[in-house]
Amino acid sequence: MLTNDELAKWDRENFMHPSTNLGQFARGEGSQRIITGGDGVHITDRDGNRLLDGFAGLYCVNVGYGRTEIADAIARQAHELAYYHAYAGHGSEASITLAKMVMDRAPDHMARVYFGLGGSDANETNVKLIWYYNNIRGLPRKKKIISRWRGYHGSGLMTGSLTGLELFHKKFDLPLAQVIHTEAPYYFRRKDAELSEEDFSAHCAAELEKLIQREGADTIAAFIGEPVLGTGGIVPPPKGYWDAIQQVLTRHDILLVADEVVTGFGRLGSMFGSAHYGLKPDLITIAKGLTSAYAPLSGSIVGQRMWDVLMQGTDEYGVLGHGWTYSAHPIGAAAGIANLNLIDSLGLVENAGTVGAYLQKQMKNAIGDHANVGEVRGEGMLCAAELVKDRDSRSFFDPSEGIGGKVVAAMLRRGVIARAMPQGDIVGLAPPLCLTTAEADTIVGVTA
Ligand code: PLP
Repeated sequence: MLTNDELAKWDRENFMHPSTNLGQFARGEGSQRIITGGDGVHITDRDGNRLLDGFAGLYCVNVGYGRTEIADAIARQAHELAYYHAYAGHGSEASITLAKMVMDRAPDHMARVYFGLGGSDANETNVKLIWYYNNIRGLPRKKKIISRWRGYHGSGLMTGSLTGLELFHKKFDLPLAQVIHTEAPYYFRRKDAELSEEDFSAHCAAELEKLIQREGADTIAAFIGEPVLGTGGIVPPPKGYWDAIQQVLTRHDILLVADEVVTGFGRLGSMFGSAHYGLKPDLITIAKGLTSAYAPLSGSIVGQRMWDVLMQGTDEYGVLGHGWTYSAHPIGAAAGIANLNLIDSLGLVENAGTVGAYLQKQMKNAIGDHANVGEVRGEGMLCAAELVKDRDSRSFFDPSEGIGGKVVAAMLRRGVIARAMPQGDIVGLAPPLCLTTAEADTIVGVTA
């Protein structure tokens, strides 16, 4: 067996990690942690640390670590049928069963689910389906996609463009020309301090309307948004936001994509964020919570009005030329079935709502009045503390100080993993949905 030092050296010398400062890592600088195990809401590393994972990996291990029900389902599937493709009407019992389980949980007006591997490829699928849809409708100019600054939708060519965070654009020649960004519904950082939440929502809708007028509604196909902004800062929408946005979209025949990669399957205390906030999307992106990350699997849930046109398209033009080798992978599907069954049997959607509200309340009690905490906010099992230089004057730290990262490092030294959100001084929490109130107390305890 390799020693810790050997493994760490091999890591630095061979492995190109995602979202990492490559030079620093190769030179032996920056963080390095080799994870060896997980159990409930805790992970262990090779140095013998046991840490409470307050971010559920990357907000994905929703049922917690070490669930034998899912591990056994994966093993059974690997023995019986590790793989067969899903092209041209083929499938496995697992992928068909999971499709039925997803559609049973999805909003009523949704018609079918297409399975991919991760959130990024699911959003790539969405854009292709949207373009296909408008081509079939005889609207070949109607192709641009509107996304929000601070939105996160992946890091592929199109999805990295949809993402509204500079880190994912710079030096990559992104965003692509078909993507345009509109204002984030970020009430805390609004320019006009006098605006009420409702007025700020109306302002965001008016900005969207202006953008559509400027570009021409006949060039705009869709709007994509996360029900709660996730990676961009864990920002729940201000009151009335989604209603106001949907009115604009309907007026201009623009499709709505609800990116529920984080919010899908219970994180907000509702099965879907769309139901939570009254969205009526044409496409819903799902990933993370679909399998709780026990195996890679994602999906695009397609609404009825798009489905009708897609069928008409293939009647006219033949096979839909879109598919991945691993679409609807049977092992991912087996993991998904066991995961959704666990979410139901353990009541994790309800738990996310109640323990999530408790976590937020305790966090507010503990640090809400601190001079450097501008706001504690969240929804369900998502919680964030926004750090400010001075609370009363709402002045912010210089981003180069990396204050969020310093707070997260201090929490880690006390045994809790939080996440410094990539833009702004925001400490994010997104624990597994099975978090108990005692574990929530542990998280809050390390912030004091
Ligand atoms: N969409 C949202 C809302 C996400 O949060 C993420 C990842 O964090 C993605 C899409 C991309 O998913 P993946 O990293 O699986 O490609």
